[in-house]
This record gives sequence, structure tokens and C-alpha cells, in this order.
Amino acid sequence: MKEKIHPKYEACKVSCACGNTFESGSVQKELKVDVCSACHPFYTGQQRTAAARGRIEQFNKRYGK
Ligand SMILES: [Zn+2]
Repeated sequence: MKEKIHPKYEACKVSCACGNTFESGSVQKELKVDVCSACHPFYTGQQRTAAARGRIEQFNKRYGK
């Protein structure tokens, strides 16, 4: 592995569109994702539900109060 080309990698807080938050490692302090291990289709087996939930969440954030 090459050295000195990687930015600083540290713990960050990840916020998912489903409302779940968890700790992860990233070069960013905070991260927002559409799917996480709690709602990802791979884990839930509910692909359409998870996808729809993410879009609804985004819609509410954009236009909701
Ligand atoms: Zn999630």
C-alpha cells in the first residue's frame, strides 16, 4: 500500500436518510447517506421500501416543515 497519499482518516458521525445514525470512519467529520446497514436493501431485503423511504425523507427535508 502506498503511504502519504491518504488524507486523515478518523471517526465520523454518519446520518442516514432513514433516521439512523452511527459511527464510522471517514475523512469527513459528518456524513450523510441515503442507505445504511439498517435500511440497506441487502440487509432488509426490502429494496423498494428502502428506496421509497429515502426519497420521501429527502422530499420532506426539502419541502416539509
Ligand atoms: Zn438507513
